[in-house]
Amino acid sequence: MHECEICGNVFEIEWIAKGKDYNDFGHWYCPFCGAMFDTIIIEETP
Ligand SMILES: [Zn+2]
Repeated sequence: MHECEICGNVFEIEWIAKGKDYNDFGHWYCPFCGAMFDTIIIEETP
């Protein structure tokens, strides 16, 4: 669960599967207001 410090929305992101060409640049954006985070906690479905 993540709370955006900018817009206050609280949300969860569920990662269904990583793409084989996935490359984590460490940049995440709030899906509601577009604010950037350094890190976000994502629950990866096994
Ligand atoms: Zn936000």
